[in-house]
Amino acid sequence: MVSRLAEPNLHSSRSNLEPLMIYLDNAATTPPDPLVLETFNDVYATFWANPHSLHRPGERAEQLLAQARAQVAEVLGGSGYRTLFTSGATESNNLALKGIPEFYKARGNHILTTNSEHPSVEQVMVWLEAQGFVVTRLPVGPDGAVTPDQVEEALTADTILVSIMFVNNESGAVNPIGEISRRLANHRALFHVDGVQGVGKLPFSLAETPVDLLSLSAHKFFGLKGSGALLLRERQQLSPQLHGGGQEFELRSGTADVPRAAAFAKALRLATEDLESKLERAKTLNRMLRTGIGDIPDIVCNSPESASPFILNYSLVGIKPETMLQGLSAEEVYIATVSACSSRKAMISPAILALTGDRERAGQTIRISLSHRTTSEEIRRFLDIFNATISKLR
Ligand code: PMP
Repeated sequence: MVSRLAEPNLHSSRSNLEPLMIYLDNAATTPPDPLVLETFNDVYATFWANPHSLHRPGERAEQLLAQARAQVAEVLGGSGYRTLFTSGATESNNLALKGIPEFYKARGNHILTTNSEHPSVEQVMVWLEAQGFVVTRLPVGPDGAVTPDQVEEALTADTILVSIMFVNNESGAVNPIGEISRRLANHRALFHVDGVQGVGKLPFSLAETPVDLLSLSAHKFFGLKGSGALLLRERQQLSPQLHGGGQEFELRSGTADVPRAAAFAKALRLATEDLESKLERAKTLNRMLRTGIGDIPDIVCNSPESASPFILNYSLVGIKPETMLQGLSAEEVYIATVSACSSRKAMISPAILALTGDRERAGQTIRISLSHRTTSEEIRRFLDIFNATISKLR
């Protein structure tokens, strides 16, 4: 039995323009919250001055920017951390993963990561290898995650950086980043976490998980696209990747985007409000989906039970994922095949391949991703349409 949920009436994922759509591609992106847009517009209208200018309007814009930085660090429980605003998590990942090795290369040339990272991490690793760094990619287990023991055993005296994602964007697998950060406390390697699919959805605090660098992206939690952050310790140095006027503590040049920074802080604050109850609702909806889809023959669930409830990945036997996607799209139901970042290129999901070891299965994946606004009514309708579409296509 599925318990009755307290449904959020103001926060349905439906808008007036698309009254019938069921949007279950929230891991690709979320729509901007009207309150976030309001913050962006209000701040832009009033605090448009260059925050680096020394005149009064500039100073006011700078104060607001400082407030946004402090708010982000505070929401994440990060005293002793600073927030550096970027154009998104791709930039945050690039800045951390190029900037740290470049800065610390005299200390060692070994970098530790996993075989299931987002392309904005994995492709930097490929680039680092071409620069002469040695990269170890730890294989994830059947739960899609690496273990703290694996990390500890792979550390060498030359390891300067460990980069492990919080939640996998395709399977929802959750890495034990808290325990890993504790194991790394006595090693000089810095710990970077791609927190994009976890922070704002699962409980997270820098006080409990004191990573050295954390990448975030606002459009995954109802913020704006082109809006990211890299949180890092106050005295942390790295080699900047954008050279210029020395903004963002000399680490990322370019005139700061104050309204976007304020909108980022607002989106993060909204996302983390009532996080526990949002998470409980997502768990209930996830259970409804697992039960409903579990009854259909020839569909295999790739997401481990321990995964984030916001992401469910399946392999379809006998139906091409893109055919399924089109069938559902015709009914205004929107899900994903492999992640949006790579879905126009390869049709094999590297993360699902790493998790299952099965190439065929990794080529047949669909991803259903929820948000805290998804309703049980939407899931019920989704299951009906999903079942009907499968019957039609088989
Ligand atoms: N890391 C993960 C885990 C992601 O899911 C994404 C977005 N697909 C990114 C990084 C890149 O984020 P952005 O779109 O802000 O560049």
